[in-house]
Amino acid sequence: MSNHNSEILVEAQELQKYFPVKNFFGKSKQEVRAVDKISLSIRKGETFGLVGESGCGKSTFGRTLIRMYEPTGGNILYNGTDITTLKGKQLNAYRTKMQIIFQDPYSALDPHHNVREIISEPLSLEGNLSSSEMEERIVSLLKTVGMKPDDMEKYAYEFSGGQRQRIGIARALAVRPEFVLCDEPISALDVSIQAQVVNMLEDLQAEFGLTYLFVAHDLSMVRHISDRIGVMYLGKIVEIADSDELYDNPLHPYTKALLSAIPIADPKTARIAKRQIIKGDLPSPLNIPSGCRFHTRCPYAKPECAMTEPEFREVSDGHFVACHIV
Ligand code: SF4
Repeated sequence: MSNHNSEILVEAQELQKYFPVKNFFGKSKQEVRAVDKISLSIRKGETFGLVGESGCGKSTFGRTLIRMYEPTGGNILYNGTDITTLKGKQLNAYRTKMQIIFQDPYSALDPHHNVREIISEPLSLEGNLSSSEMEERIVSLLKTVGMKPDDMEKYAYEFSGGQRQRIGIARALAVRPEFVLCDEPISALDVSIQAQVVNMLEDLQAEFGLTYLFVAHDLSMVRHISDRIGVMYLGKIVEIADSDELYDNPLHPYTKALLSAIPIADPKTARIAKRQIIKGDLPSPLNIPSGCRFHTRCPYAKPECAMTEPEFREVSDGHFVACHIV
């Protein structure tokens, strides 16, 4: 758990990731601005939740932050060092500190490899482990994620979705990272398994002092695990606050709409709760609306909203929002 004064581990400064889109003749004409000048800091030991509809750029942001994708512009600082343009060995040193847990454990794991091979692949990057040391590390990693040493000889298809995600987590932890991008790690799992995986991620965080960026498409999934939450819309962050503050006092109309889309268990409350349905579909990232990019769907939009982009500003301690009416 973190507080506002803790040290920053990873920082994005005006980070951009644009993807060129080729036309019929193979020429790049347009670009998808998937991540459009995002600045945010993630503190050591915290879980920063990042939410938004699919296609909003949240996974791309995470993957650009860990240098899995090449940034188009802006900077990435890791522990105060600018790692934006590092290459080769220097970059590899940071790549082991920053790992990813994927959404779909099945496609993330090579079906032709058994668990021993899957986990030893990142371990071999260390280069100096004897085969018995390697064996010990794999056994200990499997135990860490609640699996048995015997599971080492089995293949990914022999496991359930929850077990495969455990293998994916063991693989991510193999190189002893500090920062883990959890890229929708529970979205593909049965509801009954989701809590187990979240609890395990929390235990591992406490045990190894990990820092998480936890990407999810709905707010109900991240509340429990996150210290702070950022809400993303079409390549931009529209609101950041401490987790409880965001739920108790959401300020951006998009955050309010996302929160009202969470089903309420109590039927009495559900009847009086005004459900705010977001109008229309997410606009194409090839054709981002002018001004506030949420104006085409916002129930409070005024003429100014289509013309001027709202500034992202701190409205109370640690609570940031980009909206003209807040
Ligand atoms: Fe809605 Fe305007 Fe605020 Fe954008 S700036 S969220 S359009 S009120």
